[in-house]
Amino acid sequence: MPKKDKPEDEQSQQDENSSVAKIAETPTNSQPIPVDLTEDQANQRVLDLRHQLEYHNYRYYILDDPEVTDAEYDALFRELKALEAKFPELITPDSPTQRVSVGGVVSEFPKVVHEVPMLSLSNVFSPEGLAEWNERAMKYLDKRYQFEYTVEPKIDGLSVALLYENGVLVRGATRGDGITGDDITPNLKTIKSIPWNLKYRDNSNEPIPTRLEVRGEVYMPISAFEKLNKELADKGEKLFANPRNSAAGSLRQKDPAITAKRPLNVFIYTLARMEGGPVLKTQWEALKFFERLGFRVAPDIKLCKDLHEVATAVQNWIDRRDKLDFEIDGSVIKINEFAIEDRLGFVGRDPRWATAYKFPAREAVTRLVGITWTVRRTGSINPLAILEPVSIGGTTVKSATLFNIDMIERLGLRINDPLLIKRAGDVIPNVVKVMDERRTGEETPIELPTHCPSCGAPTTRRPDESGSNDPKLYCTNNPFNCPVQMKDWIFFFSAVRGVDGMGERIAHRFFDEGLMRDLGDLYYLDREKLLALDRFGEKSADKLLKQIEDSKQKPLSNLLMALGIPHVGVKSAEMLANHFHSLANLEAADVDTIASIKGMGRVAAQSIMDFFQNADNQAVLAKIKAAGVRTEDPIEEDGGPKPLAGKTFVLTGNLVNYGRKQAEEMLKRRGATIGSSVSKNTDYVIAGAEAGSKLTKAQNLGVNILDEEAFTRLVQD
Ligand SMILES: [Zn+2]
Repeated sequence: MPKKDKPEDEQSQQDENSSVAKIAETPTNSQPIPVDLTEDQANQRVLDLRHQLEYHNYRYYILDDPEVTDAEYDALFRELKALEAKFPELITPDSPTQRVSVGGVVSEFPKVVHEVPMLSLSNVFSPEGLAEWNERAMKYLDKRYQFEYTVEPKIDGLSVALLYENGVLVRGATRGDGITGDDITPNLKTIKSIPWNLKYRDNSNEPIPTRLEVRGEVYMPISAFEKLNKELADKGEKLFANPRNSAAGSLRQKDPAITAKRPLNVFIYTLARMEGGPVLKTQWEALKFFERLGFRVAPDIKLCKDLHEVATAVQNWIDRRDKLDFEIDGSVIKINEFAIEDRLGFVGRDPRWATAYKFPAREAVTRLVGITWTVRRTGSINPLAILEPVSIGGTTVKSATLFNIDMIERLGLRINDPLLIKRAGDVIPNVVKVMDERRTGEETPIELPTHCPSCGAPTTRRPDESGSNDPKLYCTNNPFNCPVQMKDWIFFFSAVRGVDGMGERIAHRFFDEGLMRDLGDLYYLDREKLLALDRFGEKSADKLLKQIEDSKQKPLSNLLMALGIPHVGVKSAEMLANHFHSLANLEAADVDTIASIKGMGRVAAQSIMDFFQNADNQAVLAKIKAAGVRTEDPIEEDGGPKPLAGKTFVLTGNLVNYGRKQAEEMLKRRGATIGSSVSKNTDYVIAGAEAGSKLTKAQNLGVNILDEEAFTRLVQD
């Protein structure tokens, strides 16, 4: 490789292959620079440091599996920088220190003609459309083929082309119009997951291509985009509409030093051309080849045998869309075999052998009509944006969350503002940004309520209990003096207790009609009075009363959770129940005792104390107790060890030697929790014979799978 200014001695040449193991043992050997260092010694150290930094870069940015802490990495980086400052002649263009700002500011990007044009893709929007695309390809070949397909996520970013000569990155360009793009090499070089030098990560002896052009998508992770927008807002600067815009804006900076500060990332997915490398026959082989060469490839790409498998893989991306840290707007389906791709060719600029399965749109522009202020049981007063109705992906949207007042200020929101809103999944959409350039001058400021819209008490601003820095607006009254707080508390209590018949509207109505003054009254609802209500039938009344009766037997942890004590969530409610076994014990405990429970903390302990010492709360609790609600848990008789505590199991298929219920009991006795469906929170799936979709899902999510033999071992010791 031409990167070295000085020849290395033979010893270090031989060490090349074993260096990874060596570094892994001593990953952090950064050292102070000796005063009397000779240039030769410095050169050795510089090479060594670059080698280590490159390796840790790969672990961090490509494998997502760092071996050293950020601080340790920084120490190595600083040492290299210091050495290069002392011996500037040792600086090479490919030193990791040069990623930060290579190339200097340009006034215009040089043009690049793509020798292999950068393609566009045809779109399909449904399984039917996909089948039609497939049928067209078959027809074109005039023969029934059993195609294989790859299914990849369609990243919503910017396509780039990277050219390597003899394994060295020589050029990076934008897509442009597909024929001509911009040379943005210095900017792309700042992206740490783009390798500057290619080498086989599996130590293969195969030749490095003399010429290799790959294509990929540069994007900004969603988390990074949100952080960047928050920073821009704090500085009063213009926000980016979405991660794609922020990636584009960052990539097209005339000063690469600015690009370097933006957390861009890349997925590589296309082999445009190659000379002098291994023979690759399929897209699947190409993807594996990219990984071996140290490129970053999108996760969970599937190789599918038929359209049915393709549809499943596509659905899997749709389902996961909201959980990813990168935006996808579809899946890309490619016929796997290059030989068939060549025969299929193109219609215009669209290849016949690939198509994009587009997902429903999730963004729209509309106008802010007004703000509704909603009081919740905690006293927080939350803004809801009322919108001019707009359709997003087939659903009409009329309102959007604003989370808190801080967001109104951060967005600089005014009534009548043109807004970009985004809807993810089935949840209520949120406001992304104000479309400043579409303002008309008709916009008016939003006035924060100075008094609670429910009780009229003055409002105050403070952070919420999550400890987040974003202040919320609060009513200064407590729920016993603020009707909407109490109504919301009644609704919350009923919902946690499993009383589904007490919907939000019914909870408000019962309060308004005087049937309930607080949550304790839930257990004293009278059938006659319910039936006397307008439009309240016998069926609804009996169902509701049955649910209320059933809720009395719920475990102590459920009651503690339902009370809505500040700082007490599901986990801490369980910890309290496990520790005290009864409400009476908890009420009698002091702050120190509560705070001494592992994982509890003093703030929560004080909050619990305050709650139980409040006279109004005591009156509510007295009502609950008098109604015969269960307030204690039996102490477990089976005091055996709980080796599976905290682990969630899901069972699927049939076990030969155990019934399903029996197997579940055996796991529960060892402290395990039994789940009904597989999610990423599942620790183990026990798969018996004829296991179905749960097993597939577990495999897709990478959940540990145990067979009957492993299960038997688990429950024996
Ligand atoms: Zn109030």
